[in-house]
Amino acid sequence: MEIEDLKHHKGSLNLSADSLLGDSVVVTKVDAVINWGRQSSLWPFVFGTACCAIEFMSTAASRYDISRFGAEVLRFSPRHADLLVVAGTVSYKQAPILKQIYDQMPEPRWVIAVGACASSGGFYDNYTTLQGIDEIVPVDIYVAGCPPRPEAILDAVIEIQKQLWREPTLEARKSGFKGRLDE
Ligand code: SF4
Repeated sequence: MEIEDLKHHKGSLNLSADSLLGDSVVVTKVDAVINWGRQSSLWPFVFGTACCAIEFMSTAASRYDISRFGAEVLRFSPRHADLLVVAGTVSYKQAPILKQIYDQMPEPRWVIAVGACASSGGFYDNYTTLQGIDEIVPVDIYVAGCPPRPEAILDAVIEIQKQLWREPTLEARKSGFKGRLDE
């Protein structure tokens, strides 16, 4: 059919841009595409020091199966990880190590404090125990419990997924945070 004929039949053929492209083209934002990928491929670094770490192991194992949420690729190199999961009591002696691990993780990175000890020192209100990891690193989600159940840890991962979905990808996160070990 010639172009002129097409123009003539435009009404009956419905040659609007919408109908020609159909659903073969999707328009979106870079943030949305990148965050969509990040949401389903969080790579956790687990800083497990005590009983809460056992709960995390259960969360990652087959019964609770953290891979249903795309977060099963545990990394024990901070440079590979974007989700720091602190599960257990953190002493003042360990604090600089935790801080160094956080500093070595590339942006964007998220932090979950699992359980009472990581969140607030728990019942270890003494001279050896850090009274919450937010004294040295910024925390995105606190999980209550001593220990929290695996479902609560999964819920924290889901909350991180919701949170990152709303974040711009090129903006440094928590850049204003100053902890006790920062200059
Ligand atoms: S919060 Fe309770 S279960 Fe978790 S590390 Fe502390 S003492 Fe252990």
